[in-house]
Amino acid sequence: MRIAETYQAPFVERSGFDADLTLEERGIVEAVHRFSREVLRPLGRKLDRMSAADVAAPGSPLFGAYVEFAKLGIDPLMLDSMAPDAASRLECLIMEEIGWGDGGLGVSLAVAAFPLQVAHASGKKELVELATGRIGCWPITQPDHGSDFVDTLNRERQQHVKTSPGNLSAKFSKDEIVINGQTSAWVSNGPVAQIASLCCPADFGDGIVRADGVRNMAVMIVPLDLKGVSRGMPLEKMGQNALPQGEIFFDNVRIPRRWAVAEEASGAAGFLSILAMAGVFMSQCFTGVARAAFELALDYAHERKQGGELLIRHQLVRWRIGEMYKKVEAARAMTRRASLYLRAAPAPHPNVSSMSKAFVTQAAFEVASEAVQILGGAGLTKEYEAEKLFRDARTALIEDGENYFLTLRLGTVLSDLYDQGWTRN
Ligand SMILES: Cc1cc2nc3c(=O)[nH]c(=O)nc-3n(C[C@H](O)[C@H](O)[C@H](O)COP(=O)(O)OP(=O)(O)OC[C@H]3O[C@@H](n4cnc5c(N)ncnc54)[C@H](O)[C@@H]3O)c2cc1C
Repeated sequence: MRIAETYQAPFVERSGFDADLTLEERGIVEAVHRFSREVLRPLGRKLDRMSAADVAAPGSPLFGAYVEFAKLGIDPLMLDSMAPDAASRLECLIMEEIGWGDGGLGVSLAVAAFPLQVAHASGKKELVELATGRIGCWPITQPDHGSDFVDTLNRERQQHVKTSPGNLSAKFSKDEIVINGQTSAWVSNGPVAQIASLCCPADFGDGIVRADGVRNMAVMIVPLDLKGVSRGMPLEKMGQNALPQGEIFFDNVRIPRRWAVAEEASGAAGFLSILAMAGVFMSQCFTGVARAAFELALDYAHERKQGGELLIRHQLVRWRIGEMYKKVEAARAMTRRASLYLRAAPAPHPNVSSMSKAFVTQAAFEVASEAVQILGGAGLTKEYEAEKLFRDARTALIEDGENYFLTLRLGTVLSDLYDQGWTRN
């Protein structure tokens, strides 16, 4: 053990009780924090008060976020060339700052890069060229399929229920893929995206639903300026209003088969690998939202005098601040663990990432809710950020797989591991 010579306040970084940040990491955190404070936060606030149609309209200030973010020079592909532990920690530090700036914009910036990341992972140069410099999206859900989309093997469906083929599918022939149908209204960046990493049921010649009731899946890179693509109205919603969302319609959209990234036997695994990446991004981003809510409450408690006394002088308020911070640090720790697993485990796993996503977004929601409470009446007003953070965090409980459903999937996977011998020796 080590014995300290004097008692003093604990060493702390902007990213909390990080004991061993390098100078380089600290420099990057500060640069991204400045960007988040000066660009993302004011922009997120502005977009939050605009209509969904205006957020997605040409000339919207939203597009400034992509331009300014690009200037930071953060390249997710550069992270892939680093050792997994260094890459995952740096990515967590960066995305926490982005989420601290604005949760909705954090999601938008992360999803915008999905097609390029998927293209790179496929090793197909043509797809990398197609996706470079374009705003991306990730359509997976459909009007008839929401949470169940993450349950590719139908483990949670009651056995007597027949799988619905859904509202969007891709028909594969020797050299071509024809896509027909529509996504749900929830596709992040849907109204503004120029390219999609589309995951949908597919017919490889034997129909969409296999004899065992499981649907065939494919992952494809699809430019969204092709003939037959159209969009629905941008969606008005409760939170993350800086994130434009809406349906995408496909009417006989034709792409070459070589634009498929995962198909036939590997289709579902390809989709679930992207889901694993998405769950980690959500965790990183909403750790930042939780921290933003904590910092706001901490600030306010040191400013607000009520009955002649600062809030922070009340013992119970300090206890509540302590409770909030425990959740921020727990969210951060869970996120870093899932991020490292994504990069270093023998294979990515969606349920490890979604365990973290469900935990972190719940923590962010609880911290944001307590921030509203600590601000009292002021927490309910638009003058303070608390009500927006609360709405943004609340929205995340359903985003990217609804949290109860994700936790149900985790329980099933743990039970499967038990059946295979885990914990039984
Ligand atoms: C901010 C945001 C961003 C999003 N971004 C995207 C995106 O980029 N691309 C995309 O395609 N989609 C996106 N979505 C859609 C999102 O993934 C779905 O909304 C989510 O998976 C939930 O699906 P649903 O809304 O259809 O709810 P449902 O699946 O209908 O669930 C409704 C309720 O039923 C419960 N339930 C469902 N099935 C079961 C079961 N078997 N057992 C017990 N309970 C069950 C759930 O727990 C839930 O409480 C986004 C959503 C949000 C809110």
